[in-house]
Amino acid sequence: MRLDKFLAHAGLGTRKEVKELVRKGRVQINGQRVKKDDLKIDEQTDQVCVDGEIIAYESAVYIMLNKPQGVVSATEDSRYSTVLDCLESSRNDLFPVGRLDIDTEGLLLITNDGALAHDLLSPKKHVDKTYEVHLEKAWDPQYEPAIHEGIQISDEEICQPAVLKQIEDQVILLTIQEGKFHQVKRMMHACDNEVTYLKRLTMGPLTLDEALEPGQWRACTEEEITALK
Ligand code: URA
Repeated sequence: MRLDKFLAHAGLGTRKEVKELVRKGRVQINGQRVKKDDLKIDEQTDQVCVDGEIIAYESAVYIMLNKPQGVVSATEDSRYSTVLDCLESSRNDLFPVGRLDIDTEGLLLITNDGALAHDLLSPKKHVDKTYEVHLEKAWDPQYEPAIHEGIQISDEEICQPAVLKQIEDQVILLTIQEGKFHQVKRMMHACDNEVTYLKRLTMGPLTLDEALEPGQWRACTEEEITALK
């Protein structure tokens, strides 16, 4: 791998910024100061230091993002900013695990681990996702049995049983295991209500870190990564 790519992947800055680090002589490989950012290194065996600090090679990346409204859950888009733009990373191997609508906020895992993403999204794995749902009208408990048994959202689609907890008149927590298109909004529509604000709070063992404002992110902790696998 090229040295500048390695440094950018390790989170030391954009490609431009890490080139500057190398030019300033702040980078050593196996104890030797280097000045060429396009140098090829072996990320498994070469020891890379910046200002004397060893930089560990991270092959798998797990990022918890509090997705803000107005960005799309995609890697590229011609009209809108994407969730990857929130990271300002120069890595090109990252992708979001699943999708949240453009106007949905909350927990989104971003990774380069295709196998984990596949598992989390597989319907067979029954991964719980909990949403905070704000409604146009007060929640009507008469729809609760239908939600618990599996509500019909179109002629062909019946949802799997879901768990609902009312928090306020117009706010509920809804836990579902599927990821049908606009599922929560369509479930509420089937209950003669409409969603005015939607935020994902959990996905499997991951819970959105309350310290993250919309648009902010952090690396998942070792415990979170272990729980995900
Ligand atoms: N359900 C929705 O309707 N929208 C989302 O973004 C996620 C779940």
